Amino acid sequence: MAIREVRVVGDPILEKACRPVEKMTPRLETLIDDMLDTMYQENGVGLAAPQVGVLRQILVVDVEEEEEREKGIRNPYIVINPKVIETSGEQEGYEGCLSLPGKVGTVKRPNRVVIEALDRNLQPYTIEGEELLARALLHEVDHLTGKMYTERCEGPLEDAEEVAAREEEEARRKKRKRRRILR
Ligand SMILES: [Zn+2]
Repeated sequence: MAIREVRVVGDPILEKACRPVEKMTPRLETLIDDMLDTMYQENGVGLAAPQVGVLRQILVVDVEEEEEREKGIRNPYIVINPKVIETSGEQEGYEGCLSLPGKVGTVKRPNRVVIEALDRNLQPYTIEGEELLARALLHEVDHLTGKMYTERCEGPLEDAEEVAAREEEEARRKKRKRRRILR
């Protein structure tokens, strides 16, 4: 297991379509383990193979709460040759990407998705995701066709730290208000 270098915007590999996986090999096994290590190391909720320079239809996603993650709880989906078979509803929110560090943008996505894929043993399974899981899966599936979230962005990219600080401040304000009401 190892941490791999994450390719950043400007690298042409991020604009290419990925080939499906036809059989599991030791090389691809190692790739999957390294992708998981890299995602956790970089504190991402997802990572697609082209982001570490490999043009294969493989992605990993883990949307476990931050506190759980800090405790070492791992709950990853390993998704090979994914096919989006159903989407519904709509959600709008900030999205970022390990391939575009320090930036976030507002993206509209379906609120729910159903994906058919293969697991790491190449057995077929179905994933149903809502909210953050749906967003993360669709973001990573986009990478497999060479697409960045920035192509779907509404409005300009913003500084990730500024947005995080603003959201924290808002959450604090709401809490204060709630406390006042309770009193
Ligand atoms: Zn991304």
